[in-house]
Amino acid sequence: MTKMDTTAVIPFNKVWFTGREEEYIKDCIAAKKTCGNGRFTKLCQEYFENALGAEKCLMTTSCTDALEMCALLAGIGTGDEVIVPSYTFVSSALAFSRQGATIVFADSMADSPDIDPDKIESLITPKTKAIVPVHYAGIACDMDRIMEIADRHGLVVIEDAAQGIDSFYKGRPLGSIGHLAAFSFHETKNIQCGEGGLLAINDSRFVKRAEILWEKGTNRAEFFRGEVNKYGWVDTGSSFLPAEYVSAFLWAQIEAMKDIQDARKAHWNAYYEGLKDVEQILLPHIPDYAVNNGHAFFIICRSLDERSALIAWLKERGISSVFHYLSLHKSVYSQKRGWDKAELPEADRYTDCLLRLPMFKELTHDEIDRVVNAIKEFYRENP
Ligand SMILES: *Cc1c(COP(=O)(O)O)cnc(C)c1O
Repeated sequence: MTKMDTTAVIPFNKVWFTGREEEYIKDCIAAKKTCGNGRFTKLCQEYFENALGAEKCLMTTSCTDALEMCALLAGIGTGDEVIVPSYTFVSSALAFSRQGATIVFADSMADSPDIDPDKIESLITPKTKAIVPVHYAGIACDMDRIMEIADRHGLVVIEDAAQGIDSFYKGRPLGSIGHLAAFSFHETKNIQCGEGGLLAINDSRFVKRAEILWEKGTNRAEFFRGEVNKYGWVDTGSSFLPAEYVSAFLWAQIEAMKDIQDARKAHWNAYYEGLKDVEQILLPHIPDYAVNNGHAFFIICRSLDERSALIAWLKERGISSVFHYLSLHKSVYSQKRGWDKAELPEADRYTDCLLRLPMFKELTHDEIDRVVNAIKEFYRENP
């Protein structure tokens, strides 16, 4: 037995393969079928239609693309306003701003980076078209409250469920509650295919148009179903569907979902148990209505300086930890567009103080112990 290596680098993320990705890609090659919308695309889409109970799911080349389809489906255009949390990835806002929307940034909750439902209503104007709740770290936003506000004002709700795979709100899967939802299968997500995404459509009024946008503005889907005898250019759209081997890769990961999720949730719980008595930091808060899908484990430090010192401390011990978003309302682009006027103290606090710890399927519990002990040691020296 070798002793545990206490100096080896613990990366922040490590890509994991099930071993079957290659086999399924070879199937595509053997079948001489590499463009999209083939057997594996359909397997993936049907899997999510069943898992979410969605009207229709469409594989996309990324979550960003799926969000762009949402912007088109919601009819977002110049002058429309879309409410987006400031503490999120650029794509949650970009997909709407590139259709001409004004982005109205909302603050996060005091105990969670998720959008604060109490702060949405005062941002609504006659120009508001949509709300984009982002389920940060896979922790559900308060969807009943958001849907109630949206219904009262006739707004479309688009869930950015990029991190929300296999996660639930009051027993309902994330991505099944808003009118539309977008998932990501980027390398950094729980199940992945390099670059990839999914559009979930929960409101049947969007299904037909979504198929057209997906197929470069043509009614090809209707043609293949025999509903029309020729197909042509009928609407706007783009090439949103990925190549077949992207879906083939993802299918291998979907098959291994339970293994992946069991491991990640166990890691998450081990971090939580290890760190819950460190009184200087806050740990993720999982509300009663939400569950944990093991997407990310984060801690919240007391200041930017403390977080910088902790990152350096962990780095000296071979542990890579990373901060996350920079508030979008303070971004260069928001300043250019004049969207930087709001004071959003919680978003700014997460920008400065939130730190993510290593999280990937193959993380070992010895490694988690090393991270936990290093953090405890830091706070013993820096109380
Ligand atoms: C990863 C992520 C995205 C972008 O996903 P892509 O598939 O890379 O386009 C969007 N929103 C959130 C919240 C994300 O975490």
